[in-house]
Amino acid sequence: MRRWLRSAAATYSDRNADDELLRHLIDSLFSAPGALFASMFMGLVLTLTVWLMTWSAICGFFVALNILVGIKRLRLTGEYGRMAGIALDRRRLQDFDRRFLFWWTMFSLGIGVENFLLVAKTTEPADWTLASGVTIGFTVAFASRNAGRLKLFLAQVFSMCAPMIVAYAVFPVKNGVVYAGLLCGLLVVAILLGFSAHDQIVELYRANLKTRQMALNDMLTGLMNRFAFTEALEREIERCGLGSREAFSLIVVDLDRFKEINDMLGHNAGDAVIVEMAARLRRVIDGDDVVARLGGDEFVVLSRERRREWPQEASALAERIVVALREPAVIDASSIPISASLGVAHYPDHGVAATELMKKVDIALYEAKREGRNRAAIFDSSMQARFNEERVMELEIETAIARDEFEPWFQPIGNIETGQIVGYEALARWPHPVRGMISPGKFIPSAEQTGAIVHIGEQILQKACAAAAAWPDPIYVSVNLSPVQFRQTSRLVASVREALARSGLPPRRLTLEITESLMMEDTAETRAAIAEFDQMGISVSLDDFGAGYSSLSYIHSYPFSKIKIDKTFIDNIESERESIAIVSAVRVLAEKLDMELIAEGVETLRQHLALRQLGVTRAQGYYYGKPVPQAEAAVAVRHLAAG
Ligand code: C2E
Ligand code: CA
Ligand code: CA
Repeated sequence: MRRWLRSAAATYSDRNADDELLRHLIDSLFSAPGALFASMFMGLVLTLTVWLMTWSAICGFFVALNILVGIKRLRLTGEYGRMAGIALDRRRLQDFDRRFLFWWTMFSLGIGVENFLLVAKTTEPADWTLASGVTIGFTVAFASRNAGRLKLFLAQVFSMCAPMIVAYAVFPVKNGVVYAGLLCGLLVVAILLGFSAHDQIVELYRANLKTRQMALNDMLTGLMNRFAFTEALEREIERCGLGSREAFSLIVVDLDRFKEINDMLGHNAGDAVIVEMAARLRRVIDGDDVVARLGGDEFVVLSRERRREWPQEASALAERIVVALREPAVIDASSIPISASLGVAHYPDHGVAATELMKKVDIALYEAKREGRNRAAIFDSSMQARFNEERVMELEIETAIARDEFEPWFQPIGNIETGQIVGYEALARWPHPVRGMISPGKFIPSAEQTGAIVHIGEQILQKACAAAAAWPDPIYVSVNLSPVQFRQTSRLVASVREALARSGLPPRRLTLEITESLMMEDTAETRAAIAEFDQMGISVSLDDFGAGYSSLSYIHSYPFSKIKIDKTFIDNIESERESIAIVSAVRVLAEKLDMELIAEGVETLRQHLALRQLGVTRAQGYYYGKPVPQAEAAVAVRHLAAG
């Protein structure tokens, strides 16, 4: 019995209810405001009726009391109603709770005593019936309506029933003892009803809480999700209000190359990495900071700080995060290299609205990625300008593609022994209606970012092949391909076939230039596409050789027929010993592998002579000819054919 009591006490005591549940239970008193007013009104009508029936002074006193208590309850209800939606601390909640307990009990006690007096004073059975009816009605109403606050509910049913039970027992009422017994039974039933109603309220609350948590939490990491974070951010902005000394930084965290992890190691490994990163973020932030997963591999941290201390605090935290996330993740005993890029923006310096702040952290993040990832960037206005420029550029590129504005210019590639032109490299140009001719260095990086390079590449390829078809055999055209185009290899191969078919250019007069960065990615699709070009009879040329992370192993594992040695080695070819050594070594290598070596970026007679001396026979550069529009290239080749 004692154990049972103790467990019941634990279940029903407020001590085990958190603030939110307590608030919910108190709120449940007002879940049907109409019923509340109806009961107050009925209480008043009742006391008035009894007063009119008895004309006793004491009943008059109860009418007055009932009005007073009613007014008090209305005001208290109003006061509490104004707190709707505002968080209350536990002390305030308990204060309200006590006042409700007192005034609500006063109300039921008033009616209880009133009924007592009615039974005491009258001999009319009709009056007894009235008194019992009122008692039963109110008791049942309390059990269903006020059970959220058990103490209040118990106080009410007792103060309502007890006076009547006593009255029936002590006054000479016919069958009084039976009535008293029936009322006792009612009391027991009401109490049981009340407890069960209480359980239902709590259960419903818990179930709602769970669905709410599911809606607000990220399932994988248990962090807040985007939706919950947006709410938290709005609350924080409200809390910090302009003019207050509170401020916060927003840090958006994006994992670098996460897609590759997912693609290469599978989604389970990807998920494990996300979970691990979430755990590290939790560890590295301060207790009152907020961290959420916005989706995919993107997280966000809201870090509270004093307004004056912000740049130091925010950059220190951002740095801690960069360092924490840079450790390789160990998943299933294998170590996965990982890092993250961060964008930081500050309230209120960089914005006072949630959407504005989110935009700015994204811009800062973009900057961090652009500067090479694995770092944090704090927003500043120059980033915004750059960002806007790039968006404008992206839109203009789209329009230019739609209008088919990109065109190839052609730079001769010569045989420097004979002085003959052997081919032309097609170099993309963008005749911009306002800004004039734009060079590829300006638009290709952006077009690669957005994927627009796929369309630009196709247009250049088509036009270059069409132009070359008009040149005398065996002059070839060399077209640059971006690594981005190799992400859709079937489309690329199809577009090459189509360009050849449409122009009628024999495949042996087409060269495709690819850079080493493509081989760094080294996928089966890329290899297959390059092999297919080779089988079609197209030459494949390794561009900018030596500029990046050249690995000689690539050279013979791909079917290259040409190597273009980068301009940086040609720049000092007449004086620097290393450049000379490298160029002559590559020449020997090319010869052994039966590839043609082309020197790029030859600008002076001295460079030309130095190359001649090293036995290099093919070259390209301003010294021989700058890129020219199609019409001029055609004239040059015609002269050549005639001469
Ligand atoms: P790249 O493939 O290395 O092309 C050679 C670049 O060097 C060209 O610049 C050319 O005009 C320049 N150049 C040639 N001779 C000399 C010289 O003697 N001195 C100097 N300083 N520069 C010389 P351009 O036309 O601005 O192209 C830049 C880069 O843009 C190209 O480098 C290539 O990577 C890319 N690109 C150009 N057209 C296309 C294209 O149609 N598709 C793709 N994917 N990339 C292209
Ligand atoms: Ca090239
Ligand atoms: Ca090149």
